[in-house]
Amino acid sequence: MKTLNGGCLCGSVKYIIPDDLIYAGYCHCSECRRWTGAPFSATGGVKELDFTLIKGKSFLSSFKKGKNSISYFCKNCSSIVYGEVPEHNMVFVMLGTLAESPSLKPQWHIYTDSKLDWYRIYDDLPQYAGSPYAQ
Ligand SMILES: [Zn+2]
Ligand SMILES: [Zn+2]
Repeated sequence: MKTLNGGCLCGSVKYIIPDDLIYAGYCHCSECRRWTGAPFSATGGVKELDFTLIKGKSFLSSFKKGKNSISYFCKNCSSIVYGEVPEHNMVFVMLGTLAESPSLKPQWHIYTDSKLDWYRIYDDLPQYAGSPYAQ
């Protein structure tokens, strides 16, 4: 299987994953907006075992995001690189940190009830006011 390379802005943190995302999508919730400083987050999920950090462990700092996830960012350049959801043995990567385009593209927009009023969604992907998945 093809692998995808990813990493932070300064290059201190690098990882690889197989090109086998389980999901990919955009989240417009207020937490993700503040977390990223962007209008929405774009993340993709892989199985924990499929995620390999190849460089930069000592550069990582973590933040407990929400109830179930731990977010990892580079201490040097502040890029949010990936996160863990231990309860589900999953890792999510920030799609913007990938150097190559994954085969699976974002499939949905969630928490559009929290979307910034000036941000307009131009694609035809399904939109959910909250999350379609039970938390
Ligand atoms: Zn960095
Ligand atoms: Zn969110």
